[in-house]
Amino acid sequence: MNLQEVDVLYDPAELRDKIKELGKKITEDYSGKQLIVIGILKGAFIFMADLVREIDLPVELDFMDVSSYGASTMSSGEVKIIKDLDNSIQDKHVLIVEDIVDTGLTLKYIVAILKKRGPRSVKICCLLDKPSRRKADIRPDYYGYSIEDNFVVGCGLDYNEKYRNYPAVCILKPSVYRKQG
Ligand code: 5GP
Repeated sequence: MNLQEVDVLYDPAELRDKIKELGKKITEDYSGKQLIVIGILKGAFIFMADLVREIDLPVELDFMDVSSYGASTMSSGEVKIIKDLDNSIQDKHVLIVEDIVDTGLTLKYIVAILKKRGPRSVKICCLLDKPSRRKADIRPDYYGYSIEDNFVVGCGLDYNEKYRNYPAVCILKPSVYRKQG
């Protein structure tokens, strides 16, 4: 990690403990239920890989990739599905895994799409929650940390596709986006 560009917020050991706790809670809550864990690409992939290994249940895994329609419709939160699920979620308990919930607009749209497909339940688990920026009525059912309004990278989160592989959650120093535009 280049510590001239980032400040560490949560280091790998803290993250491991937190994700273990989340997995334990999810294991208890979904015991005896048919659970499908859905990761939202790309940001969720690292958190999801760690989380599902802490869930001691026979889970099904799937992924969805979405993108916003562009600046003019950003506020509606309407998203385009780039990659849909491979399998049906009918009668299953769905747990959506996301890296961070910011405005909540993306998840509001995804939840609405998935609820139309006949799941038994739809819940949200995110590593980070930024409640101060919320625009949609979305509250994660499970989250690792509630954070201030800082731009974070690492553990799947990027800035211009960089830093996703950093093993810590880090605050990107403003000098980096000033330099890169
Ligand atoms: P929203 O909740 O606003 O619809 O969007 C959530 C998405 O915005 C996240 O999945 C993530 O891709 C991106 N995002 C929001 N806040 C941050 C942040 O602090 N850092 C990074 N890297 N991405 C963010």
